[in-house]
Amino acid sequence: MNKNSSSIMALAPNTSNKRETVCIFGTGDFGRALGHKMIQSGYPVVYGSRSTQISNLIPKDAEVLSHAEAAQKAAIIIIAIPRQHYNFLTPLAEILHGKVVVDISNNLKLNQYPESNAEYLAQLLPGAKVVKAFNTVSAWALQSGTLDASRQVFVCGDDMEAKQMVMNIVRALGLTPLDQGSLMAAQGIENYPLQLFPMWKFPIFLSIGLTVFFFFYCLALDIIYTYIYEHNNFSFFIAFTIPNRVCPVMALVLLALVYLPGLLAAIIQLYRGTKYRRFPDWLDKWMLCRKQLGLIALAFASLHAVFTLASPLRSFVRWRTSKGIISQALNNRTEPLDHTNAWLSDSYLALGVLGYFLFVLVGITSLPSVSNNVNWREFRFVQSKLGYLTLILCTAHTLIYGGKWFLSPSAYKWYLPNIYMLSLVLPCTVLVVKFVLVFPCIDKPLTKIRQGWERTPRYPE
Ligand code: NAP
Repeated sequence: MNKNSSSIMALAPNTSNKRETVCIFGTGDFGRALGHKMIQSGYPVVYGSRSTQISNLIPKDAEVLSHAEAAQKAAIIIIAIPRQHYNFLTPLAEILHGKVVVDISNNLKLNQYPESNAEYLAQLLPGAKVVKAFNTVSAWALQSGTLDASRQVFVCGDDMEAKQMVMNIVRALGLTPLDQGSLMAAQGIENYPLQLFPMWKFPIFLSIGLTVFFFFYCLALDIIYTYIYEHNNFSFFIAFTIPNRVCPVMALVLLALVYLPGLLAAIIQLYRGTKYRRFPDWLDKWMLCRKQLGLIALAFASLHAVFTLASPLRSFVRWRTSKGIISQALNNRTEPLDHTNAWLSDSYLALGVLGYFLFVLVGITSLPSVSNNVNWREFRFVQSKLGYLTLILCTAHTLIYGGKWFLSPSAYKWYLPNIYMLSLVLPCTVLVVKFVLVFPCIDKPLTKIRQGWERTPRYPE
């Protein structure tokens, strides 16, 4: 076949705009919204309803018939009716024999029934080719056209041809079908819309726990201790100073927690001498939510940046500055510029700005709309190399600010280290372990293991 004839063949289906009639059972919210979208996409739509009276709400060009009459007019029947009413379909089993029946239903609770709604439908209509689809799209999004966040439609079914027919409709509506395999996948697809930020649960709970811990840690050392031993009332620190201490600490600790599981995985692989054994569940789960941990860390870093920019406006800061100037004037003494301090403060700020810039870059690249446009190597480069550079810069930024307290006995109130010292423990550990792992004598066997080599092969050649 020459190139021209194949391109003519490829164009052939588009030259005919005629689409097959689709039947929708149920004229409720979802049935109407789907029918409306289908008519817009060129599908003749016929509704099967308990009442054949046309109402204003039903799309203008659609027909409304009884269930039996409507089913006879189409090869695909979409059931836009809640599962609890499915038994009305039993008398229609013969008419629906051999037809593609699409289950779009959702439940109110996770694993509400022993079997999925689609499998239940297949049991009620043994001769029909049941396909699960559309349940993750809302009627409102279909109607209003705001489908950006929910363009993906999970599709599953046992009959390949039936599934293909449904996926073609999904594409024609401007959505993206995602083949999830056989009807056994339906339960998972039905549970999907009921999950509330599944990947965010652990990062959010961890962040809340750590934030509360660091907040009370600062409260104890910066306010209560100062009040008891120095008789100074700094309770107003609760509003600004403490949040601006907790935010950078949280950003740094969470960023270190993004890279720690990767290092633990490497150590486990080196110890086992193979990559073909599963990691413990907790490590698997931790690795899966690294992106979310990183994004929360970025949110804390952004808050810290805003707090710091707003800091000169604080009355306490302005009072302290003017107090310093007045005391110099009263003593008729100008303090000389301390070059070491100037270097330290400039480096501290520069490292913070650069670290934050890279942090934003790494965060943006982890968003699906951006990561879909970079290849795997580019993605790994940004997430791993630039991510580690971000961790180094942010750790150095904190080290310059808080490191000096390590050796000062006054920094240990109630024998507890200052919060900045505390925040440095995890990132420094991560960086030291990473530094050890990149040594060629360790990196080489690790790379070999990751390429499939085993110290004790399970299947000797
Ligand atoms: P709905 O507005 O309550 O409509 C359900 C329709 O089912 C009714 O309008 C009625 O249509 C029909 N019906 C009700 N009782 C019946 C019975 N005893 N026998 C036969 N037919 C009966 O519900 P919906 O929001 O459109 O949801 C329909 C299905 O789509 C549900 O399974 C839901 O989980 C799923 N879904 C909905 C959305 C959404 O955003 N709404 C999103 C995804 C999936 P007639 O009066 O024409 O007979």
